[in-house]
Amino acid sequence: MTHKYELEKYKGIRSRHECPACHHKGVFARYVDTDTGAYLHSDVGRCNREDKCGYHYTPGQYFKDNPDEREFAAHGRSTPIRQSTPGQPGKIDRIPKQYIIQSLGYNSNFVRFLLSLFDHYTLESPTVVRLMSDYYLGCTKDGSVIFWQIDTRNRIRAGKIMQYNPDTGKRIKSQSGAIDWVHSKLKRIGKLADTWKLSQCLFGEHLLQKRPNDTICMVESEKSAIIGSGAMPGYIWMSTGGKQNLKAEKCECLKGRNVVLFPDLGAFDQWMEKGKEIAQRVGFSLTVSTVLERIATPDDRRDGLDIADYLIRQIQTQSNTPVSFAPLTREEEILQQMNAKNPAIMQLITSLGLVSTSTGKQIRTA
Ligand SMILES: [Zn+2]
Repeated sequence: MTHKYELEKYKGIRSRHECPACHHKGVFARYVDTDTGAYLHSDVGRCNREDKCGYHYTPGQYFKDNPDEREFAAHGRSTPIRQSTPGQPGKIDRIPKQYIIQSLGYNSNFVRFLLSLFDHYTLESPTVVRLMSDYYLGCTKDGSVIFWQIDTRNRIRAGKIMQYNPDTGKRIKSQSGAIDWVHSKLKRIGKLADTWKLSQCLFGEHLLQKRPNDTICMVESEKSAIIGSGAMPGYIWMSTGGKQNLKAEKCECLKGRNVVLFPDLGAFDQWMEKGKEIAQRVGFSLTVSTVLERIATPDDRRDGLDIADYLIRQIQTQSNTPVSFAPLTREEEILQQMNAKNPAIMQLITSLGLVSTSTGKQIRTA
């Protein structure tokens, strides 16, 4: 009789891994889904140092600890986890759920900034509360925020750790300029195996399932996604986490959806071209916003401002002068209706300029 999950048969050194408990290399056999050939989570398996280590985490225990995963596994045949990583079929390393739960909290400078920005008219902060629960914002002891990347199957792919100035909301880079990651920290303290491999997804991807009919606003930075969602909750705000991260393989989850791209200043041409190509390949309807291109001053361009900078400026100044008026597209009309309660947001929305394009079709300028 064949079981659904079996320990991987010995096929040489590549089939024996580092043990997540004792960290000896080449001693750990992982469980494999016999239907799909995919590994279960990298912690699920048995260490062959039976006397000295004795680690054995069975699929049964794993699914008890991670009930959500069982559902995905049950659909293994129709939606195989298998991905084309040579030598390691189906392996998408993820961060155990406990770390996201431990990290949740308001104690980051980024969230302090959000609290100063939204909900001025009330003692409560309904907007910030919503953002916290939608995006699972985490915090570290030193007040950095953690932006968790959770995919459409609720797999926690990564946690990006970033520091912000609580007053301005501007990013504070570390001395090396490098971004710190939760998995790097966990590796440093021996909680994740050295072989754990990062495979990123889009930030906000997990919201797609919950809101199957909503339009997606795609921006470059996590901060823009959060501020955008705070200001315009009717859209699903997602970010690529970097200019270069707008890639077809990451955008598979957008298939069949309506997507509005908001390129940062200086990235318009690149994102427009890339976006069209990806929309055609994956199959989603794309609109590229020209609002920043139309309202930017030379200084704004020099600083490479993004949609969040304008939203923040607009909210903070409560300016009464809309930047410019363009014929409204369908998206703009929807936005306007949704945000009619907040005059500051409304002014920005009146100024939104969108260039529409159906998949691969001629681009229409608003
Ligand atoms: Zn071991």
